[in-house]
Formats: sequence, structure tokens, C-alpha cells
Amino acid sequence: MVAGVRTPEPVAKIQVQFPEVYRQLQDVRRTLEGHFKDMQDFEFTVEEGRLFMLQTRNGKRTGLAAVRIAVEMVKEKLIKPDDAVRRIPADSLSQLLAPVFDARARKTAEVIARGLPAGPGAATGQIYFQANEAEAAAHKGAKVLLVRVETSPEDIRGMLAAEGILTARGGVSSHAALVARQMGKVCVCGASDLQIDYSTGTLTVRGKHYRKGDFLSIDGTSGEIFAGEVKTSPSDIVRVLVDKDIQGADSPTYKMFAQLMQWADQRRKLEVRANADQPDQVEHAVAFGAQGVGLCRTEHMFFEGHRIDYVRQMILAENADERNHALAKLLPEQRSDFVGIFKALGGRPATIRFLDPPLHEFLPHEESAQRDLAEKLGISADRIARRVKELHEFNPMLGHRGCRLGIVYPEISEMQARAVFEAAAEVQASGMKVRPEIMIPLVGFPKELELQLEVVHRVANTVQKERNVKISYLVGTMIEVPRACVVADEIAKSAQFFSFGTNDLTQTSLGMSRDDAGSFLPRYQEEEIVRQNPFAVLDQVGVGKLMETAVRLGRSVRKDIKLGICGEHGGDPDSVKFCHRLGLNYVSCSPFRLPVARLAAAQAALKD
Ligand code: PEP
Ligand code: MG
Repeated sequence: MVAGVRTPEPVAKIQVQFPEVYRQLQDVRRTLEGHFKDMQDFEFTVEEGRLFMLQTRNGKRTGLAAVRIAVEMVKEKLIKPDDAVRRIPADSLSQLLAPVFDARARKTAEVIARGLPAGPGAATGQIYFQANEAEAAAHKGAKVLLVRVETSPEDIRGMLAAEGILTARGGVSSHAALVARQMGKVCVCGASDLQIDYSTGTLTVRGKHYRKGDFLSIDGTSGEIFAGEVKTSPSDIVRVLVDKDIQGADSPTYKMFAQLMQWADQRRKLEVRANADQPDQVEHAVAFGAQGVGLCRTEHMFFEGHRIDYVRQMILAENADERNHALAKLLPEQRSDFVGIFKALGGRPATIRFLDPPLHEFLPHEESAQRDLAEKLGISADRIARRVKELHEFNPMLGHRGCRLGIVYPEISEMQARAVFEAAAEVQASGMKVRPEIMIPLVGFPKELELQLEVVHRVANTVQKERNVKISYLVGTMIEVPRACVVADEIAKSAQFFSFGTNDLTQTSLGMSRDDAGSFLPRYQEEEIVRQNPFAVLDQVGVGKLMETAVRLGRSVRKDIKLGICGEHGGDPDSVKFCHRLGLNYVSCSPFRLPVARLAAAQAALKD
């Protein structure tokens, strides 16, 4: 029986045959649980009517069981709330927030391939390879999985419409992974056995073909990909806080979760913020306990409705006049986004990052799409093709991106600053507090920040005069290249806050592409060159030392500089604990990771 080769009867059945043994067993159970103050997994034998105890140990448990056991043991006064907070593995909370597969259906499901677990939970649906087709099918009521070689900002709407996202290429901080987590979507990425043929709409896995519309299922907690439709059920906590189709008071799981979160919040010192760039994401984040937005990636707002056309006009502009004309059309759109975000935040701070990705990401690369765009904009397809060629970069991650965009095209930063301050003025006029924090990406030289600061302050002054208001705001920078860490004292002279962009900081300090590392990282882990994926769990020894340097240097110049982290590590328990030890003020992560971050932060505080 211990080996698991026989199916046991329920223990309570002993009661019939050996009532005295059963009574003794209950006594022993109470004694053991009282002594170890934890749920026990014990072995016993009954020989000639006599009970013998063989072994006992703390029992293994699922995330939900861990929460229930701890919360109930506090109620029974067996342990203290501190013990409950300490004992529950912070990561296990993500199990409570994710949809799960029906246990029986999962057992019989066929695993066809594996990828990286990038957005926890279970998802099932019909596969679509194009974002617009996924979106159209979802609007007709289908459950959809978006399957791509990799995703780009253009796929956002398809990702939003899908139950889950599956990619063949890219690591856990690839576009697909981080956007999926931010949306609370299930995601498996970097499944390199998938061969995707967009032209025929087929996915081939080890000789087997799956066509557009076929069902697949993915487990974003384990990285498994299953053939066919595997039944799933949603999380109670998400139903209470996001879907709002059940009441907290009616869900025992939600009540336990809320109790645990209250204990965690009473203990943690780190603040928690969310990476969110849409008003509804911000609402979810606040429901999950966000004390602000730690990263609003403004480029994610460039795809909604007509905006992408204006963005493309801006990129295709041949001179500053044309560019300004396109930016003027983008301004009201950005402004209304910020109004929505500020309102959803209800007075909490919002760190808004200016445009970061290289411009080629916003233009269509396929000839037919270029022709469509040319027709729409009334320009020649050749001009578009030429611009795409001009913008081509061998290594876009180290190319014309980040603050380099705002320096070469200051009018882009001007428009973004204006959108922020006009939105702030508007929301403030309605009686709500607004706390914008403008963040400049990819700074390595103090002068880069100074040039962008000049733009931001100039626009802030103009808008404040125009509207006759006073807006309190901060301007700071991301710290995401090694140079920024080692000259942090120089940068802190003009930065009011630092936010560690540990996705890029890991990429640039390890010289390891965040999108391509999947091809060799598993081997690196096998060889124990790295213990964990450094894009998921912070490399404390290396990248952490750079962060430590930046914290020390930054504080040496500006004692009260506000320090945070907004890379994906902000939702990883070990990395959160490291941030606590570094003395950061906050961690920022995707809305659905917030409970994990809250618990990890409390655990770190209890260690002090
Ligand atoms: C980062 O680099 O850690 C970051 C948050 O920015 P992004 O992921 O958008 O590059
Ligand atoms: Mg970055």
C-alpha cells in the first residue's frame, strides 16, 4: 500500500473491524498534529489487533490545501498568524488564482509537447494562428488558443480574446509571456517542437498535424501541451474579484484567501504595485491589492482602435511637421487612456513609462499587409517597404529603442508628456488625487535623462499654465543597463526615482537574449551553470550585485530616492525577498501575481 500499487480503502473503515484501534489512531493523530503543529502524513500497521505507528512527517499539499490548513490551524489556535504567513509557499497562491483542469480529464489527456510555463493555469480552445482570426472566432463565442511562433504588440487584441497563448519561440520574459501574465492569461511559450506554418494554417508536432480550429489544451503551470479539449474550471478568487459573478461571502476559498492576505499585508514592509496599461487591468490590480501602477508600458496602448494608424503615420513621416501632425491625432487617444488609468487608481500613484520598443515593431512586415496599409494611408507601398528596410536592426534589443527614441524624436516624448499632464489636470479637476510618475527607459548616461527631463518639465509647466493647475509629479528612470547601475550616483542627481527593469538588466548584464535563451538554458540548468532561469528568478549574485551598487550609489546622492522593481522578477517570491533585503520601497508585477508578491514580502519582513 505504501508503494502505491494497491488502492486503499478509506481509513474510517477500520472502525467497523477494529473499533479500539480506530480510537487509538484518532488519539495518535491528535497528539501528532498537536506536537508538530502541522498536517501529518503517517504510516501505521495493525497486527493481531494491535496498532503500530511506523513513521510520520509533515504532509505534502496543494496550494489550496496549504492555505486551508494554515488558516484553520490559526482558528484552532494551534499556530499563530505569523506561522501561517511563514508556512505557505508564496508561489502556491498562483494555484488559487488560476483556472485548473478537471483532475480526471487531465489524467487521460495526451501530452503532445512541452514548453516553458509562462502564465499559470489551464486553458483549452480551438487553435488560431492569426490574432485577428482568434479575435473574430472568440467574438462568435468560441474558446480560442492563440498559437504563434512568437507574439508582437500587434497581436495584443488576439491575445486578449484568447483563453491561452502558445508560442514556439521565446523565454519567460518574452513579449507573449509578460503580456499574458499581465492579462492573467494562461501561457506556454518556447515550445520548440511546434512547427507552425502560417500559410497553410497548420501546426505540426512530431509528424502529427493540427489545423486551424482544432482543439488543444495547455497547462501554463507545468508547460504541458495536450491534444484535444480538456475540461477546465475557473478560480473562485478570480470569480469574486474580477468576474464578479459570485460573492466573496459565498466562497469558503475566497474567505480563506482574504484572511491570509490580511495577515500578509499587516506584516509586509514592501509596497506592491502592478504592471498594467489598460484601465480594466488597473481595476483588477487594485482588486488584487495593488497600491499603484509600477509600470505602464505606453506602447501597449498604441494598438487599440485607430491608434495604430496614427502611430504608423508618425513612423512613416518624412519630416518633423508630418510627425507632429500624426502625434496630434495620437494625443487625445493617449490622454483618454491615462484618464481611465488615473480614475481606476483612485489617487494611487502611476509610473508611466515613455515609448520603449524599436519603431519597426509597429510596421507590418508582410508585403500584403504593407499594401493594405499603403491604401489606407494613401501613400505608396514602396515608401512603407523602404521605411521598414531603414528601420531594420540586426539586434533590436540593443538598437534604436528606449530613451534613444525620445532623444532623436523629442516630439514623441512631448506628446506623451502632454497626454499625461492633460489627463492629470482633467482627473484632478474632478476632485480625485492624481500622482503621475514619468519614467524614462533604458538610460545609461546621465545626459540621456537630463535631455528627457527638460522635455517633461517644459511640457508640465506649459500644461499647468494653460490649465491653471498645479500637478504634483515625479520623473525618474528605469535602471536596466549595467552602466546605469555603476553611475547611479550621477543619474540620481536628476532622477527622483529608480525602477529596476530586471528583464533588460538580466539580458544586458548576462549578455543573454531574453527571447533566445530558451535554446540553451535547459542545458545550462542541467549542467548547473545556472540553477534557475535567470529571467524568472533574479540572478542575485550577478545582477543582484549590480542592483545593490545602484541602490548604494543612488541613495548616497539622494537619501530618499524612491526605489522599485518592475521587471518580471517583481512577482517571483525569492526575488521579492531579495528586494526586501535591498531595502527597495516597492515591487511591481502583473496583477495576478500580486497575492504572491504580498505574501513573499510579508515572509521577508518576518525574517527581520
Ligand atoms: C524590464 O526591462 O525589466 C522592463 C520592465 O521593461 P520591458 O520588459 O518592457 O523591456
Ligand atoms: Mg526594459
